[in-house]
Amino acid sequence: MTMSFDQRNGWIWVNGEMVEWKSATTHIINHGLHYGGSVFEGIRAYNSKPFKLTEHNQRLIDSGKTIGMEVPYSVETLNQACLDIMEKNNLTNCYFRPIAWRGSEEMGIGASSCSTNVAIAAWEWGQYFDGTGGITLHTSQWKKPAPDTSATSSKCAAGYVIGTMAKHESVSNGYHDALMLDYRGYVAESSGANLFMIKNGEIFTPIPDCFLNGITRQTIIGLARDNGLSVTEKHISVDELMSADEIFVTGTAAEVTAVGKIDDKDFTVGDVTKQLIELYKIETGQV
Ligand code: PMP
Repeated sequence: MTMSFDQRNGWIWVNGEMVEWKSATTHIINHGLHYGGSVFEGIRAYNSKPFKLTEHNQRLIDSGKTIGMEVPYSVETLNQACLDIMEKNNLTNCYFRPIAWRGSEEMGIGASSCSTNVAIAAWEWGQYFDGTGGITLHTSQWKKPAPDTSATSSKCAAGYVIGTMAKHESVSNGYHDALMLDYRGYVAESSGANLFMIKNGEIFTPIPDCFLNGITRQTIIGLARDNGLSVTEKHISVDELMSADEIFVTGTAAEVTAVGKIDDKDFTVGDVTKQLIELYKIETGQV
């Protein structure tokens, strides 16, 4: 059994101070815990260089704005805190977890007088998926909600509950992760990564109008186009997805990961996917 995350050694940046890992706690009565009022980020550093650091910390601030919570630090302060925490913990290849959450000043649904707390932890984290030949996805019964029913463009913790339900459902059926459809029945993403399909050498990816427009997704679209590949953003039906030649998912944690199977249908890890995996490694400074 892996060590519980609260039992690690090291330092966590909490509201501007370096706090010893096991002492980085918060009171049980806080709005973030009770009402889901928290937003977070996931950032990777390769060879001591955080990838797209400013984009991620800006998204943390923007996610806060979406749910009406002001993050009380500038992007520059958050960027510097990430660099400081990496150095303080002697990390070179790591994953950062910035989180902002509402404090304890109010305990009803309203949160206008709640303070906002911010913490940044970092730890070594290898591959998110261990799927040789591609990961397996199971179509979930849980759908991504409409953008007028949830804060779908923000990394708000409350929005992740449905992802956890879909992930649990998939794992209990023997799959690595979930294929999540949206409220209209179009293909959306996996529980924590965006999705791409390749058909006759062309790349297609769903329009992120009710799920996160991932920073890795945007990076991959740019890299593909810079290398002469065609990328089209459009609504994708399940039938269309199932007729693809190759499928892969993208995310900070997942990086670029081939999909080898969806439900009963097998997919090949093809040349376009392999090329993009390599291009992403170069872009992030891994090779
Ligand atoms: N969708 C969801 C639900 C996610 O949690 C993530 C990871 N942040 C992504 C997509 C990919 O986003 P990014 O590439 O910015 O990490």
